[in-house]
Order: sequence, then structure tokens, then C-alpha cells
Amino acid sequence: MENNDEARNSETADITEKTKNCPYCGEGILAKAKKCKHCGEWLEKRT
Ligand SMILES: [Zn+2]
Repeated sequence: MENNDEARNSETADITEKTKNCPYCGEGILAKAKKCKHCGEWLEKRT
């Protein structure tokens, strides 16, 4: 794969999932995540 930059670029473009920062620990997590994988806090609203 070292001689194929195009493949490397497409690999980079593959990492386009939306992310946000956890409001509790500040670590980057998936925007669709319901629970922070870093600190374990739940991000979805619980009533
Ligand atoms: Zn967190």
C-alpha cells in the first residue's frame, strides 16, 4: 500500500464520521454516541 497514495487518501476520507466533544470529559466522541466511551457518562437525555 505504500506505493498507492490514492488508497491512502481514500482511507483518510473514510474517517468522516461526525464527532463532538464530550461535555463531561472533553474527549472526542461520535456525535451519534449515546454514551461517552471515555468517561462513561450518558449523553442522551434521560428524564
Ligand atoms: Zn466523556
